[in-house]
Amino acid sequence: MIAPPEEFERLVTKYLGLLGIGHPWKVEVVVRTDPEESLVDPDDPDAYAACSCLPEYYRATLHFDALHESWQSVEAGDIERCVRHEVLHIPLGILSCLARDMLGGNTAAREAIRQAEERVATLLEFAPLWDQGG
Ligand SMILES: [Zn+2]
Repeated sequence: MIAPPEEFERLVTKYLGLLGIGHPWKVEVVVRTDPEESLVDPDDPDAYAACSCLPEYYRATLHFDALHESWQSVEAGDIERCVRHEVLHIPLGILSCLARDMLGGNTAAREAIRQAEERVATLLEFAPLWDQGG
């Protein structure tokens, strides 16, 4: 084990609370601790965290790969930043899922939406507000 699995769960709970994400949302945390388990993103073997969101059902699943070698090179704070980033994808997913549904098969536009969501998640991930209340 490279990253402590229970740390992901603890930090998800912390950031759901800070963002006020509670009932009716159901957020599942899946931490990969066994090499036999599937990767967090089968399309991207390098991914060590991911968020999948079904906003219309108030459901989200956060995936973290506790075995991923990248945790060896990060400090404890980076696990927290990573969890914060993935939790931020939950409210952002409300808009991006809607946009993707409306775009249908327009892959270029869908990719533009994905990249915009990524930029907003990263912007908020590094926002100074977390140092004040978090
Ligand atoms: Zn992201």
